[in-house]
Amino acid sequence: MTIKVAIAGARGRMGVEAVKAVGHAADMEIVAILDYKHDGLFLHEEQVNDHGEGYPIYTSFDVLIQEKAPDVLLDLTTPDVVFTHMNEAIQHGVRPVVGTSGLQMDEIEQLTALAKEREVGGIIAPNFSIGAVLAMKFTAYAAKYLQDVEIIELHHNQKVDAPSGTAMKTVEMITKVREAHKQGHEDEKELIEGARGADVEGMRVHSVRLPGLLAHQEGLLGGEGELLTIRHDSFNRSSFMPGVLMSIRHVMNDKELVYGLEHILD
Ligand code: NAP
Repeated sequence: MTIKVAIAGARGRMGVEAVKAVGHAADMEIVAILDYKHDGLFLHEEQVNDHGEGYPIYTSFDVLIQEKAPDVLLDLTTPDVVFTHMNEAIQHGVRPVVGTSGLQMDEIEQLTALAKEREVGGIIAPNFSIGAVLAMKFTAYAAKYLQDVEIIELHHNQKVDAPSGTAMKTVEMITKVREAHKQGHEDEKELIEGARGADVEGMRVHSVRLPGLLAHQEGLLGGEGELLTIRHDSFNRSSFMPGVLMSIRHVMNDKELVYGLEHILD
């Protein structure tokens, strides 16, 4: 069976990679592009045209669903539209696969409840990189035994949120196994505000933003006379595509919305 995929955000940096990856997958077909402009035009190799070459662009999700009946909506857009897209997708039985960051926890809960009620599979993945998700899991596993932890996440300087969604998710996973406690010297003082990073139950989280970087994270776990470092680097956006394809295949056989790629890795 061929999975019919609609892509929102196809002109963006992630979207361009996704169009290539989904377009080349033997078991998938891109049936339409959801956009807020270029209605009735076509997208072909990153260019919009009016002569019918490439994938048809729709600005109305309703019309897109009626005419193209996608199985999956892959959303790689912006925080201000992702909730509306997902809500509409689930209402119509279209499975959302979402990489867009910025959804609030209460919105995720609302969408999870709706997906459960409608029995629609879906995934919100703060990080589609399989290596990054494994690094998150390994860090959380190690934190059970080495409970003094500092997370350093490093990203390109166009990123607007800090800490990254991946760091937030790592921290959430660690807090489930690590007993809350203050790290460092009990009389520690910051001579420059922020020097010790953000404080999550005593664990520290640091965000680095520099041109040249893409997405990187290091978990440092200290013990008596030892240090365990778990590091992951995404060097380009193609690193996210195996996770995108895995997610699209997964949601076809699921009936609920999951938050985090780690839930679909064995
Ligand atoms: P980007 O280059 O800014 O692309 C976003 C695209 O969405 C732009 O082409 C934008 O169009 C388009 N867009 C805006 N509103 C839209 C709407 N209503 N309908 C359809 N398209 C719309 O950003 P990016 O770097 O590709 O990242 C996209 C999202 O993925 C971000 O939230 C980012 O944080 C996230 N991300 C996730 C992962 C992951 O692994 N989960 C990895 C990297 C990035 P215009 O250009 O015309 O504004």
